[in-house]
This record gives sequence, C-alpha cells and structure tokens, in this order.
Amino acid sequence: MGTLDSHYDVAIIGAGPNGLTAACYLSRAGAKVLLVDRHHECGGGLITEEWSGFRFNTHAKLMMMMDVMPPYDDLELESWGCKYIRPDVAAAIVTRDGRAMCFYADIERTAKSIARFNAEDAEAYVEVMTDWYTIVNEAIIPATYSLPLPLLDMAVSYEQSEVGSVVNEMAEESFVETLDAAGFESELLKTAILYLGTMYGMDPEGGLGFLLPLFYNRLLHSAVVRNGSHQLAASLARFANRNGTTIERAAEIQAILTDGPKAVGIRFADGREVRADTVISTADPQMTFLDLVGEEACNQASSHLVAQTRSWEWESTSLCNVHYALSERPRLSAAGYDPDADRALVKIMGVETVDGLLAHIEATKAGRFDTKVGAAPVDIEPQTAVACWESLAPFDLSDGSWDARREALAGEILDTWTEYAPNLADATVIRHYVNDPTYIAAKLPNMVRGSIKHGAYVPTQMLSNRPNADCSAYRTPIENLYVAGASVWPGGMVLLGGGYNVAGVVADDLGLDRWWTEPEFVTEARKKGLVG
Ligand SMILES: Cc1cc2nc3c(=O)[nH]c(=O)nc-3n(C[C@H](O)[C@H](O)[C@H](O)COP(=O)(O)OP(=O)(O)OC[C@H]3O[C@@H](n4cnc5c(N)ncnc54)[C@H](O)[C@@H]3O)c2cc1C
Repeated sequence: MGTLDSHYDVAIIGAGPNGLTAACYLSRAGAKVLLVDRHHECGGGLITEEWSGFRFNTHAKLMMMMDVMPPYDDLELESWGCKYIRPDVAAAIVTRDGRAMCFYADIERTAKSIARFNAEDAEAYVEVMTDWYTIVNEAIIPATYSLPLPLLDMAVSYEQSEVGSVVNEMAEESFVETLDAAGFESELLKTAILYLGTMYGMDPEGGLGFLLPLFYNRLLHSAVVRNGSHQLAASLARFANRNGTTIERAAEIQAILTDGPKAVGIRFADGREVRADTVISTADPQMTFLDLVGEEACNQASSHLVAQTRSWEWESTSLCNVHYALSERPRLSAAGYDPDADRALVKIMGVETVDGLLAHIEATKAGRFDTKVGAAPVDIEPQTAVACWESLAPFDLSDGSWDARREALAGEILDTWTEYAPNLADATVIRHYVNDPTYIAAKLPNMVRGSIKHGAYVPTQMLSNRPNADCSAYRTPIENLYVAGASVWPGGMVLLGGGYNVAGVVADDLGLDRWWTEPEFVTEARKKGLVG
C-alpha cells in the first residue's frame, strides 16, 4: 500500500483546479483527504512548462475570476505564493490598416477608445455595459459560487427581479442575438465583443446568450499569475498539504469501488485499493460513470445514468497554441495609432467583421484550421514565453493530420503575426512549440477531442443540466459519490467553482464544520432569488 493509509474520509480523483480546491476546503474542515492525480505534479490545466530555459503557460493563462473567486481570500492564496497581475489594458482588436480599438475593465475608458471609431457607439457602450456588468456581478458571478437552481425553478425565481428577468431573456438568445440587441453599429466593436465571448469555444449561434456578458466582462477583468499559472496550483497544493491532505501524484485511478449502489473507495491502476467514505471525481462524466464506476453499478443506482452519460457531447472546437521564444517581442504597428494596443493582455488579429468571425468559427467546426485569425494572450509577464498565439482549432483536420501539418501551420501563423508586427520579420525564433488539440487531449484525459471544458456548453449541458439534472448539484445517484470537475456546474475554465461548491455539499453531508463564510455577493443574490 506504499505510504497511503487504508481509509480516508474523502478521496478526490484529479488534482486540477477543482480537485485541489475541494481538498483545501475539506481538509481545513477536518476531513482526512486523499487527493490523487495521474500526472507527476498537481494542477490539471494549470500547467507551466519550462522548456529550453523559457517558461510557457501551455494551458490556462487568463484567470477570469481571480478578483472575485472566494477561494483566493478564504485560502489566503497570496500568502501561499499565488500573486496575480492585473493588466492595465485588457484587450485590443487590431486592424490591417494599423489601427486598434482597446478594451479595459473600466467602461468609460473603453468608451473613449471606441469613440475614435464611432461616437454614438461609445455612448451606447456605457449604457449597455452598465447593464451587462450588473447582470454579471449580481447574478452570474454569485451563481458560479453556489448550487445551480433547477431550470424550471430558476426561470420562475429569476422573474422576481429585473436582473433575473434579463438573464432569463438572454438565456433564450444566441450570443449573436444578445450582441444584436445591444444595438452597436461598429463592426470592429461587435467583432471584438463576440471574439472575446467565443474564444474559448462558445457557440455564437447556440443559445445561452447570458454567457456573452459573462465571458466579455470577465476577460476584461482577467489576471495572469506571476511566475506562471502553475503557481495557483502550487499555492492550493501547499494549503491542502499544510491542512493534512495526502497528495498522491503519478497515480492513475482505474476504478471507483462500489458496494451495491454505493461508492466505498478507489482502486489505482497498479492494483492498490483505498477505502473512502466519500469519493469526489473531477473527471468527465464518461470516465467517472462508464469507466471508473462501471455500467453495472450505475444501473443499480439509476435507470438512466448510463444513457445520459453516453450522450455527453464533446466540444466542437478546441484550441491550438503556438509558443514562440523570440529574440524580441512582437511590436504591433497599431501601437503608432494607440500605444495601449501593444500592452493589451489579449490582442485580436485577423478578423474585423462579425461575418468574418462567424465564418472562421464555422470553418473550424468543419475541420479547417484558419491561420489568419487568432489572438496573442499574455506577454505582460516578463518571465513567461516571449509570445504565444492562440486560436480555435479543429480536433480532426480536414486536410491532413496534425502530425504532418503542425510545423507548416506554425510558419503560416508567424507570417500572419508579422503582418501586424513587422519587427517579427527580423526577429530570430529561438524555439517554438506547437500545442495543437491532439496535444491537449493527450495531456489531460478529460479534455477528450481537445475539449478544454470537459464537454460542450450547449443548453442541454449547462446550468442544472451539467452534466445532467441528477448530478449538477454535485451529489450523484451513486451514494457517497460526488462530481465536481469542469463537466459540472459552473463548468470549465479556472473558476474553482466546482471544487468550492462540492466542498460545501460534502461538508454538510459529512457533518463537517463549514469554516468559511458565504461571500456577501452570494447572500445578496440569494435574497433576490438569483442563486440556489
Ligand atoms: C490550451 C488551453 C488553454 C486554456 N486557457 C484557459 C484560460 O486562459 N483560462 C481559463 O480559465 N481556462 C483555460 N483553459 C481551460 C482550463 O484549463 C480547464 O477548463 C480547467 O483546467 C478545468 O479544471 P478541472 O479541475 O475541472 O479539470 P482539469 O484541469 O482537467 O484537471 C483534472 C485532473 O484530473 C486528472 N485525472 C483525470 N483522470 C484521472 C484518473 N483516472 N486518475 C487520476 N487522475 C486523473 C488529470 O490528470 C487532471 O490533472 C484552457 C485549456 C486549454 C487546454
């Protein structure tokens, strides 16, 4: 059995952002916690690699909730080594003729940049964003850090407040419809908003319109972690360790042990078994239920769990990142128009119209990798890679394999970038690394087909349907088994919401002390019927 005990109060599968967070809260509440990951180090999507002396955030880079996520303060993550940097300029969309519209968390400051293109839109922006920011702050952020309301209850409860009824309306719209309703004229402005809303694989025409204000607002508030994204994972792991969590790395879980319809422990791939009163899985539903629990035990607990799980939809697009270590940083020619463009955390290039963006997304879904459109996220941290290009990408290329094409595609991307940053023509590429969707899927097994959120954001898989109506509140039909990864509400990205929420549910079920206090924004939202 190595150094592990034979019994734990809680065994957690997966030490990504969500598993780590659950371990922190539960071990501090007094539970004896075992946290297991197949990787040699913790972090899941919080990966920072050092290759050839250069530091790259190969997966999560932009921390959209850093300024509001309860774990940051509850767990005093700064004192455990996680410091974040909030950029002054959040985003810029750069035009081929050398101009740029710049975006800031501050509404008025953004309006000034918009005014250089369209004065009426600048005025409208202040009005629209005041509403969008209110929806996000009063309803959607609080909902991220609380249990999802069942869909029908949500619809009724949300009608009681003005903010809630707007969210209800948006829930019926697509991103494009929500954007149209804002009434902006400038193509560049609309394109930038839609790009930020869809850059992590959201379907612009697939419903869930309220997520457009969320992604837009949160990307404008994004932070990066000093010394690399992995420092967030490291600080969570330090907190968990100090509070008694045992972390077992390089250890794959092969089965969740059951006794009838009840989880009783875990089995490692090397045959070791550990008993646990509670098992939390942060894996995707197919791995959790079909592979680890097994169909027989699932069928004993629920007549429809297996069928529900089999119909889980992976994301229709993934991401391709090309990381370049360069002799000099790219300098946008648009900096001559607005120096802030060069300082933006996300620089959008290659697309200036909504139709162009929609065509780019459709092409990606159809298997074509468009090297002309993408964004450069993060080069404000001096010690990370000099430059990174990120864009939507298909898992299966229609015109060849990633193995055969990745180097040529990386060259094409550099050409595109050079159109916007001419100094790249003379720069030396010291190293470059192409992390295409096949790399993503191979590295993290729950990102099947490169699904960075462990599964599509479609109405049938969101809110209290994520991963299904029986499991979205973290308990499952299998007694003592809980789910908490990106495939559960509030979904993917580094929100820490799943881990935070499951900790509350498990603490209640095990009779542990909920030592943390509910954030005021959640309490306020509860008074208005906006959270569960
Ligand atoms: C290229 C890329 C860019 C991204 N950019 C951003 C970004 O800028 N901002 C952002 O917020 N998000 C970003 N994301 C998404 C983000 O990384 C994920 O949504 C997030 O990591 C999900 O967290 P999680 O804890 O639910 O799961 P994961 O991070 O996937 O962690 C799950 C863990 O479980 C482990 N595991 C799985 N199966 C087993 C098993 N059987 N036994 C033991 N261990 C197991 C895995 O090894 C993994 O460590 C990006 C993702 C990718 C791929």
